[in-house]
Amino acid sequence: TEHREAGWNFENSYARLPESFFTSTEPTPVRAPKLAVLNQPLAASLGLDAQALLSEEAVQVFAGNRVPEGASPLAQAYAGHQFGHFTKLGDGRAVLIGEQITPSGGRFDIQLKGSGRTPYSRGGDGRAALGPMLREYIISEAMHALGIPTTRSLAVVTTGERIVRETYLPGAILTRVAASHLRVGTFQYAAKWCSVEELRALADTAIDRHYPDVTNAENRYLALLQEVLKRQAALIAKWQLVGFIHGVMNTDNMTISGETIDYGPCAFMDTFDPATVFSSIDVQGRYAYGNQPYIGGWNLARFAETLLPLLHEDEERSVQIAQDAISVYGDVYREHWLTGMRAKLGLFHEEAEDEALMETLLSLMKEHRADYTNTFRALTFDTREGSEMFGTPEFAKWHEQWQARLGRQQESKEDAHQLMRNSNPAVIPRNHRVEEALEAAVEHGDLSVMEKLLAVLSAPYAHTPEQAEYAALPEPASSPYRTYC
Ligand code: AMP
Ligand code: MG
Ligand code: MG
Repeated sequence: TEHREAGWNFENSYARLPESFFTSTEPTPVRAPKLAVLNQPLAASLGLDAQALLSEEAVQVFAGNRVPEGASPLAQAYAGHQFGHFTKLGDGRAVLIGEQITPSGGRFDIQLKGSGRTPYSRGGDGRAALGPMLREYIISEAMHALGIPTTRSLAVVTTGERIVRETYLPGAILTRVAASHLRVGTFQYAAKWCSVEELRALADTAIDRHYPDVTNAENRYLALLQEVLKRQAALIAKWQLVGFIHGVMNTDNMTISGETIDYGPCAFMDTFDPATVFSSIDVQGRYAYGNQPYIGGWNLARFAETLLPLLHEDEERSVQIAQDAISVYGDVYREHWLTGMRAKLGLFHEEAEDEALMETLLSLMKEHRADYTNTFRALTFDTREGSEMFGTPEFAKWHEQWQARLGRQQESKEDAHQLMRNSNPAVIPRNHRVEEALEAAVEHGDLSVMEKLLAVLSAPYAHTPEQAEYAALPEPASSPYRTYC
């Protein structure tokens, strides 16, 4: 046809890997696809024509009914530790249709999630429900706006088909955009089921794609490990600083790129409590808020193990190199967190007592069941809510120490205020707001509630008057908020 394909410009570098890493497989067509939401700014940044993507023909691409020119769909093989137990996995309900090469030379995976069964589906139906796909869209885009590395959401289409869960649910397909879908679990798959040469090919692909600067390092695989560790430490610190709980930090859900991936049971914390868990299946609290930094280190240790054959020809030396590399994780993480927390408190430079100042605040917040986001917002604007927040002498004393600390730095109060504005979001995707948007969309076909929420979440550091409404806390609930995979 004359159709310009809306600017799709695919390459398939992943398909050049040994064939054990994937299976070529087409999406399964769906009956009656309809566009639910399209991310126009993201489309433009990918070199796509947002107007053309609204056409019937383009929607067929998002639905998997038509494979655009240059794409060659495949499902990726991977493995992973799920809640600590190792298993073989793979894209069971997703296909990578290709890598979009942008006008500025960027390369992004374009993946359809919910596109039907693949050879890795095991017992699953390969499908996804509308609610969870819209949820991923909302939260991943909110994360992006918060400045947190993440996969993104280009579009959601409804399929016109019902899927079977506990009840019948409307089906949907999400178009996910990622720096890549290489996971710690991809390396675990290679280490367990592929040859060392295949593992090396995977590691070289990861270096080419995400860490080209280490290509000529003396020990490039050690450098790869160190770089992934740095990105993941930085990422998890950012999660902690906004109160994001991933919910399912299995090793297959940890990227090599350092992007957040897999928005299943994730949610943002309201009341500050390190023990917070939302996921219905995380009964032990393995992936509780306060445990996330530790789990990050555990997952990176699993990554390091996969690289042992590449780190040194002598096995014992390899283990030593890996252990030395991993041993710095706690400090690297802590440094990122401290830097971020300083900014949240308006502090430009380091002082020895900063950690104590932060820990005291957090323990008061925990004790008084303070809202995480709104506490920092109140401190930023020094509102009545802030100064009277806890109404206790301990907090008044803390506030005095903090003010004294601010007074000791060269930078003005106004500079500190600006730093805090840019570090403390006015809004996060609060659970009751997300649920409200999903209910309108799924139960009543009304997408306007979600669209308004997306607009508010797109500028979390703007601190506009309209955002105040979205900062409000939910009505007290009779049961805790629960999320599902
Ligand atoms: P997750 O918990 O989202 O990381 O998914 C774990 C694994 O289950 C991945 O390999 C998914 O591809 C697979 N999976 C999840 N849902 C389905 C489904 N409905 N059909 C087939 N595979 C699925
Ligand atoms: Mg996953
Ligand atoms: Mg998932």
